[in-house]
Amino acid sequence: MRRIVLFGGTFDPPHVGHLLMAQLAFEQCDCDAVWVMPSPTPPHKADQPVTPYETRREMTQRLLKGAEGLVLCDVEARRHEPSYTVDTVRILQQAYPDTEFQFLIGSDSLRDLPSWHGCEELSRRIRFLVAARSEAPFRETYQMVRNVLPHLVAQALQMPMLDVSSSFIRERLNEGKPVCGLVPDDVLDVWRKHVEATR
Ligand code: ATP
Repeated sequence: MRRIVLFGGTFDPPHVGHLLMAQLAFEQCDCDAVWVMPSPTPPHKADQPVTPYETRREMTQRLLKGAEGLVLCDVEARRHEPSYTVDTVRILQQAYPDTEFQFLIGSDSLRDLPSWHGCEELSRRIRFLVAARSEAPFRETYQMVRNVLPHLVAQALQMPMLDVSSSFIRERLNEGKPVCGLVPDDVLDVWRKHVEATR
């Protein structure tokens, strides 16, 4: 049975935290690949401006370049409806019956899982691998979410806490401040080109 870890996100912009969690998931899950899926229309970010999909896709592609086992997957962009994770997972499981999928997620997103469209079905369909963030300690968050979604199965990713987020980076970039070490330079080039083109 092939094993694939799915890693969905907005990646606006993608950063070192995303890269580290994907790399560690690849190593720790004994899987064939991690498929990184930028969401074309992130349902939980509908109330805020999001950088166009193509720009986030290009940045994500550059972030993953040269990293073993990490592959960009644009399955969500090929659909025309909002990209609900439950639909993506169902479609992939039907398309690849010989593959066992797991879903990589940050603990802040795990905490919000009960508000996701189709969360009950999603929790029955797939196991979660969770990277802890300081605002949502793994054990407490898992217990809390399991009270609502009793079929949820999640396991902690062994990863040092890396408190970096795309919103922190966007804030600094918008203020013209450096983001050294948080986003690789060739990823930042794509971001800067997009900002110049839309100015
Ligand atoms: P934003 O600050 O805009 O919300 P983000 O940094 O959380 O962005 P997303 O693209 O929304 O980035 O994240 C995709 C997934 O990766 C989410 O499940 C999120 O919780 C997780 N994630 C992102 N950064 C980290 C990190 N530093 N540590 C653990 N999980 C993370």
